[in-house]
Amino acid sequence: MAAPALDPHQRVIGIIFGPPGSGKGTQGARVEAEFHLAHLSTGEILRAEASRRTAVGRKAARVMAAGDLVPDELINDIVERRLRRPDVQSGVLLDGFPRTVEQAEALDAMLARDGRQVDFVIALEVPERVLVERLINRAREQGRADDTRNAITERMHEYRTLTAAVLDYYRRRGVRVMEIAGVGRVETVFERIRKAMAGPIPSPLGGEDAH
Ligand code: AMP
Repeated sequence: MAAPALDPHQRVIGIIFGPPGSGKGTQGARVEAEFHLAHLSTGEILRAEASRRTAVGRKAARVMAAGDLVPDELINDIVERRLRRPDVQSGVLLDGFPRTVEQAEALDAMLARDGRQVDFVIALEVPERVLVERLINRAREQGRADDTRNAITERMHEYRTLTAAVLDYYRRRGVRVMEIAGVGRVETVFERIRKAMAGPIPSPLGGEDAH
């Protein structure tokens, strides 16, 4: 198998993007291990806060259970603090963030202060019928509070109306967006990601994917 093209010592900022149930968590963990990036899932952070019953956690738990998005300022603040920690200095894979164009702008601003930028986006594509099936199965297996039918419907709605536009935001800025078919076995999907990642990563604005 070809070696990963990313230099593990390079400070890389990647995003794993996709609708609820597209496999961001599963594939994100693989990408983390293969490319030595710190996998930073905002959903996981919020669930940890909720189970510790912190002030942020209690507020977030209600919003999450309804399938809505927590406020941009709250999540931007959490991400900014995480990005300053030493364990993410060599590179990070963001999962579940940004979920709105406002969050994407905030991320660009916080990275720009350090002379950094988003280097790539892995966009998992899965038909909605398959997504709903997966989320219903996950509800049975893991009992996540937001995997109820009503919350799933709401999360799909939030994705379509607020989150999907984030991809266009990155495309417009010339960030490399890799569209990956997210159906099939976990290994098969990960192989597609590995292949896509083996290509060169152009720099944003004026990079080879810019248009
Ligand atoms: P996830 O684990 O990524 O599916 O996220 C679970 C839930 O956490 C979402 O449905 C939202 O309620 C909340 N959440 C996670 N990340 C964000 C974000 N970037 N912006 C707003 N809400 C978020």
